Amino acid sequence: MKPIDFRSDTVTRPTAGMRRAMLDAEVGDDVYGEDPTVNRLEEQVAGRLGLEAAMFVPSGTQSNQIAMGLHCRPGDEVITEAGSHILQYEGGAVSALWGIQPQPLPSEDGLLSPEQVTAAVRPEGIHSPRSRLLSLENTHNRAGGTVWPLERFQAVVEAGRRAGLAIHLDGARLFNAEVATGTPASAWAKLTDTTSVCFSKGLGAPVGSALVGSAALIKEARRLRKRLGGGMRQAGILAAAALYALEHQVERLAEDHAHTRRLASGLAELPGVKVNLARVETNILLVEFARPSGEMVSRLAAQGLLVNATGPHTVRLVCHLDVSSADIDEALSRFRRTLKS
Ligand SMILES: *Cc1c(COP(=O)(O)O)cnc(C)c1O
Repeated sequence: MKPIDFRSDTVTRPTAGMRRAMLDAEVGDDVYGEDPTVNRLEEQVAGRLGLEAAMFVPSGTQSNQIAMGLHCRPGDEVITEAGSHILQYEGGAVSALWGIQPQPLPSEDGLLSPEQVTAAVRPEGIHSPRSRLLSLENTHNRAGGTVWPLERFQAVVEAGRRAGLAIHLDGARLFNAEVATGTPASAWAKLTDTTSVCFSKGLGAPVGSALVGSAALIKEARRLRKRLGGGMRQAGILAAAALYALEHQVERLAEDHAHTRRLASGLAELPGVKVNLARVETNILLVEFARPSGEMVSRLAAQGLLVNATGPHTVRLVCHLDVSSADIDEALSRFRRTLKS
């Protein structure tokens, strides 16, 4: 039985076209700024996000963390949603690397309100940490791939700006938001000081993210990347995969979204399953089972369905390049079998 892997949109393998692009990539030493393919990628990403400059990095974690280090000094505070990737899934880096104090704000759907941000900002004075940075996430991973409506994003950014905060956007799946709404990624990114995007998620590249911002910030970011050991040499081989992904594998994210909706409505009809269909916006689906999630993960694995538990009864399914329309039909029949036994 062929396993169907819904654990993450990072499990994709490079397509034949992408592998050819990597094979043919022109390369140089990127630490010297001499890799023409990396330079082309950085120009393209900056242009596409409507900001001045971009820097290619090995991972989304490194990209986010360089942004943290750019905007904050030890003892400063980052205001962010409690389930955000920077707090939940980056190994404690905000405190371990930079001595930043996080202020996590609660939400149902990963999105904040302007009032919440305004109320969170600390008063001036020797007792408080300095509120320095507002970090937002679009789409929001832990909340189930939710998209920030542009107007709400704008209002929250303005609340942050009024309080003198810098703005970072963790846009690991910003292109999912673009494809789901028809709003260009740049509409969100242009409102920020720094935005991070991933090529190794639904876009299907094996490695790589980019941090985008003003020329001055990205110049300083190159020092922090080197400090973290992220300076890569003939990285054009990897940048070629990212360029290929941007050119050929963005529009197809719509298929992942359609697959996710189909999976969601199929699962919603099964016994012992709860799905909030209104919350299915992109390629991530959170499913609540009557049984404990740990037990469901093993039962599903026995049927060749790979998923991750994200709560006591919650399991996350992610659709991606390597899950076909036929896989969705097959997965639904395996779910039916699992829930009957
Ligand atoms: C995956 C992800 C990242 C970066 O992860 P890496 O595995 O370090 O590339 C950052 N933010 C969000 C929201 C993510 O889902």
